[in-house]
Amino acid sequence: MEKNLFEISLCTLDNVAEKVKLDPNIHVILRQPERELTVAVPVRMDDGHVEVFTGYRVQHSSLRGPCKGGIRYHQDVTLDEIKALAMLMTLKCAVVDIPYGGAKGGVRCDPLKMSREEVIRLTRRYTVMIMPIIGGRRDIPAPDVNTSAETMGWIMDTVSMFQGHAVLDVVTGKPLDLGGSLGRNEATGRGVMISTIQLLKKLNRNPSDTTVAIQGYGNVGSIAAYLFADQGCKVVAVSDVTGGLYNPEGLDLESINEHCKISEHHFLKGYKKKGTEPISNEELLLLDVDVLVPAALENQITKENAPAVKAKYIVEGANGPTTAEADKILEEKGIIVVPDILANSGGVVVSYFEWVQGIQSFFWDLEQINSHLEKIMVKAFDAVWSLTQDKKESMRCASFMIALKRVSAAMRHRGIFP
Ligand code: NAD
Repeated sequence: MEKNLFEISLCTLDNVAEKVKLDPNIHVILRQPERELTVAVPVRMDDGHVEVFTGYRVQHSSLRGPCKGGIRYHQDVTLDEIKALAMLMTLKCAVVDIPYGGAKGGVRCDPLKMSREEVIRLTRRYTVMIMPIIGGRRDIPAPDVNTSAETMGWIMDTVSMFQGHAVLDVVTGKPLDLGGSLGRNEATGRGVMISTIQLLKKLNRNPSDTTVAIQGYGNVGSIAAYLFADQGCKVVAVSDVTGGLYNPEGLDLESINEHCKISEHHFLKGYKKKGTEPISNEELLLLDVDVLVPAALENQITKENAPAVKAKYIVEGANGPTTAEADKILEEKGIIVVPDILANSGGVVVSYFEWVQGIQSFFWDLEQINSHLEKIMVKAFDAVWSLTQDKKESMRCASFMIALKRVSAAMRHRGIFP
């Protein structure tokens, strides 16, 4: 059986720790999250009965600043998954050099089978249960799978009710009218596009000769698709949990987005257009394209399908979409993988801008936000790329190396309390 995401992340951490000769006293600390909270979340369902959901908030590290990481609602959420994602957040914030540690939260539930009122009650009760450990200086949640700006608004309101005033800095990814930042909703997809374009530049490739397939048509995938097309790339396939769409001549994203505006749960299912064929998620991952962007969930490229992957480059929009075994196979095949902690860091970078703007009560325009985002992402990409060239390591290994160097420097300066 393949390892779970936490075991995979520990393996990568251990391998890279050996390569960078990480101080064993620092290594042993980073192998465990600082704090794990498991909570019971009772919710009165619309028919009157009560269901108790399990929720988590894990803080991996607060060494470089407040812990930072999204909250997801999904039926497969486990403590190990949340621990892994929290560790990846520590490394992600370090690789782009923003002053945060790492955290993650989640509730094991299927929000697509719940009413909006049930999801609101779930969110408010979960917020109260994790309230002792979150806060603008301690741990700042954000949206992730099946949560959105609206969810962040409910969390912000719940915390504000208890504190007696509007608490803007407790979450990022808020609605614009509630102290959200311009560009935050698009930031992760934009970062995926920026890192892909930067890769193409390094390889002297033209975006207009580049085909792209994207798995997952949610916040990250749908925005990345639109921005890829805007750069001249040909987006030939997209998919969501209901299946995918394929057109070798390039998809008509505008009409797909029109369809998703009115379809059930904004799904791709039911979209029809001449020249566009249905395709399964499994088939999408094996398409002969230049760039494959997994932007759904973890463990999508495994030792079973990796040998058949034909894409030249994989840009990880999702967190942990490639298993450790698959990673090795892809490397042997010469497929370049831009790892999650670099490729999808655009979201946390603009979350950082949102937090800074909220603290200053001074808001920037979109141009300023997108240009700062690009500067930070290009700098991080270039640093990782030069290390891959110098050390002949994969981009994942180089990203971990840079991140670990920064985290361990912070720990050396702070020392170990007491
Ligand atoms: P989302 O809920 O908006 O979208 C997820 C998409 O994946 C949906 O289209 C869903 O139908 C699809 N999906 C779910 N299960 C699938 C499956 N088995 N096969 C194919 N498609 C499937 O979530 P999101 O915010 O876009 O997050 C997607 C990934 O990106 C996650 O791994 C998340 O952790 C990561 N991420 C998100 C952000 C962010 O700012 N939202 C930032 C960094 C990383």
